[in-house]
Amino acid sequence: MLLLFVLVFIQQPVENEFFTPNEISVNDTVREELREKYENRTPEEWGQNVEGVRTRFKNDGQEIALTLDACSGEYDEDLIHFLQKNEIPATLFLSGVWLQNHTQVAADLAADPLFEIANHGLNHRPCSLTGKSALDIEGTKNFDEAFEEIYRNSEYIKEVTAAETKFYRSGTAFYDEVCTALSEDMDHVVAGYTIDGDGGADFSSHDVKQKLLSADSGDIILLHMNQPESSTYEGVEKAIPELIKAGFSFVTLSERALY
Ligand SMILES: [Zn+2]
Repeated sequence: MLLLFVLVFIQQPVENEFFTPNEISVNDTVREELREKYENRTPEEWGQNVEGVRTRFKNDGQEIALTLDACSGEYDEDLIHFLQKNEIPATLFLSGVWLQNHTQVAADLAADPLFEIANHGLNHRPCSLTGKSALDIEGTKNFDEAFEEIYRNSEYIKEVTAAETKFYRSGTAFYDEVCTALSEDMDHVVAGYTIDGDGGADFSSHDVKQKLLSADSGDIILLHMNQPESSTYEGVEKAIPELIKAGFSFVTLSERALY
């Protein structure tokens, strides 16, 4: 009995224990160069639209970009299959915590030319150099944690899917402007959004549809692909045919310049 108690006790996760894929090693030269540049900078901004966050793209005609976040949790297969069936391109932002439970799915999605794989942070944390939080999620505390959040997830995605990520969106899409500069320096453009398409996967299908139908050319739409029980798929399914009828086409982020 005592032994059982001890075993149960030691298996409890330690508070603030974050997922780190063992197999990923860090390039120390890169880290030290960036540390020198960013560690002592004091951020002044905090939010979803701070300096360095790009929320739109230079469209070539009537175009919009769907971006789907995989924060943690499940895989919305219906949503992805709908996009595949209708040949709708999208950029998929994968966190490390989602990826560790969906490695085969992620590899399959990366192999589909419709989809571009992007970086949603290793542990889905807001990106702060000073430990700020957002939406009840604890942000990264310092340079090292911000660096690891971006770098290790990019390496992890590369290992699992062979994709080289070019865009970063933090968990919650909150940043300070030092983190956005750091991200750009690590060859990850910070991708915000113009339209919150599903309200963190909380909207009704009607509201998702209305949000999508409000899109203008050059808009980046934020949706979620990790909550199959949400109404995101139903809303997207209703809106896409109307958007196509209205003359819109869809692009991935690397096909256009973000600003
Ligand atoms: Zn997320």
